[in-house]
Amino acid sequence: MQSNQQAPFYIKTERSFSPVRKYAWLFTVLIGIGGQFVPLLGLLVPFIMVALMGTSIFKGKYWCGNFCPHGSFFDNLIGPVSRHTKIPAFLRSKPVIAAVLVFFMFNLSRRFIEVYATLGSGEFLERLGLVFATTYLMVLLAGGLLGLAINERTWCQFCPMGTMQLLFYKLGKAVGLAKNTDERVTVSHPELCHSCGKCARVCPMQLSPYLQFSENQQQFDGESCIRCHTCVHNCPAGILQMAKPHEAEEIKKEVSLEGFEQASYYRVRIKEIAILKDDVRRISFELLEPDRMSYDPGQFILVEVEPAINMYRAYTISGSNQDNSEITVTIKKLPGGYGTNLIFDNFKEGDTLNLKGPLGNELRVDPTGSELLFIANGIGITPFVATVQSFFERNEYPFHRKATLLYGARYEEDLVYDDYFEKVAENNNGFNYYKILSRPRTERYARGYVTDILNDLQPSPETRVYICGTADMAGGVTEILTARGISAENIHYESFI
Ligand SMILES: Cc1cc2nc3c(=O)[nH]c(=O)nc-3n(C[C@H](O)[C@H](O)[C@H](O)COP(=O)(O)OP(=O)(O)OC[C@H]3O[C@@H](n4cnc5c(N)ncnc54)[C@H](O)[C@@H]3O)c2cc1C
Ligand code: SF4
Ligand code: SF4
Repeated sequence: MQSNQQAPFYIKTERSFSPVRKYAWLFTVLIGIGGQFVPLLGLLVPFIMVALMGTSIFKGKYWCGNFCPHGSFFDNLIGPVSRHTKIPAFLRSKPVIAAVLVFFMFNLSRRFIEVYATLGSGEFLERLGLVFATTYLMVLLAGGLLGLAINERTWCQFCPMGTMQLLFYKLGKAVGLAKNTDERVTVSHPELCHSCGKCARVCPMQLSPYLQFSENQQQFDGESCIRCHTCVHNCPAGILQMAKPHEAEEIKKEVSLEGFEQASYYRVRIKEIAILKDDVRRISFELLEPDRMSYDPGQFILVEVEPAINMYRAYTISGSNQDNSEITVTIKKLPGGYGTNLIFDNFKEGDTLNLKGPLGNELRVDPTGSELLFIANGIGITPFVATVQSFFERNEYPFHRKATLLYGARYEEDLVYDDYFEKVAENNNGFNYYKILSRPRTERYARGYVTDILNDLQPSPETRVYICGTADMAGGVTEILTARGISAENIHYESFI
């Protein structure tokens, strides 16, 4: 495995909490601490135990991710300050899980027997309540400390109540009760997955859905999944949802695979790594097997960055040689980014690796419009490098009308391929190139945003527009374009996040 000293694998992320999940931790504090003073409060705990086991028959460990008061405590209060490191494998091993369950049951039974001796006296219920309240407090303390030191959901790897749920879930599956009720993480179509591993990096249980989608149903069957939706909300491709097994096939049928039909895996060698800027590299891959890739400008490829965990990153093709035996991508290093740190630190000329592609439909240009408008900011310029190369350098499309490129960046040093676009514009009357900087360091460049240039242009309502960059920029330009009468179907946008 390639080492990554610069960026941690597991990332804290914005969580979306239902009101129950957000505030259920108050119950833990009430029972665990309040129960020490009002022991009868502890008698609420058996109801929780019955509810969680009942739920698990139908929905696996759904309770843990959605209702569990301790889970809510870990997610809300411990998560933000947790060290958030890898949970040691032995804490998730079967012997540890079994030992904790046996110890818990033994201890609880021993204390029940002690309390049973007081049956019939006035103190019986109070002492029984105290047993539960103290157990609740112990979990709060032990789970909280483990959560701070390792990862917020460390306790949940071997929690005896979680193990009981797992056993009841297996029973529910065996007798068919979970069949129509069990919602699992579901990918709309496996072909659309970028293998970026973000679902694994944000999972509080440190599971890896993208490595374990079942072949036919495209569902993650991991029984430890607590159905917390965190991966669903964070998948950059937006292809995850919770669905019941019988719904998965229907979801797949609805998916359009336009732009993904030609995709296959390629073995490649890194031919050249060119330093375009301090934080931007142009990498050329020589295709080994197969030795040609037929792609449309605007499409992207997946580049393998960590083979041991099948992790890839998506990069737009920013050019190729004449016979497409060499494919080029242009990559900007993201501070703290996992994949770009691996690429910048470890990739060397001569290395071999895997690619997948070509992929994507959104920025494949339809040249039949009367006018084309390309709008980019930041590293979102890359798809238009390949497009301009194909249209104006190689004349691969019979396009004889007007095309305009608007390019926004922050500083002078953020402009990549500027000289290239200037040169193409000089040699082609049909191609116009405008650039603008939001924080220019010199007087040489106009100050502002691509929206400012767009305001001065008069694109016709038939113009086909292709946008790549930040969501804010895309929102701003779409508003202006719509006001100019350009219909939504002629506005195409791809984000890199
Ligand atoms: C279709 C497609 C095409 C792409 N083409 C290119 C390309 O040509 N050149 C290129 O440099 N990148 C491109 N990207 C982005 C690229 O895939 C990676 O996301 C990027 O290199 C960061 O990877 P990382 O592993 O370093 O960061 P990660 O560790 O994966 O990301 C850390 C966090 O930052 C967020 N993030 C990712 N990218 C950005 C960003 N640019 N700005 C702010 N936050 C971000 C992620 O959502 C994540 O939460 C493309 C992405 C897609 C989906
Ligand atoms: S987060 Fe990445 S790896 Fe996981 S399903 Fe989404 S695209 Fe695939
Ligand atoms: S796989 Fe997804 S839903 Fe399951 S526990 Fe991990 S983040 Fe939550």
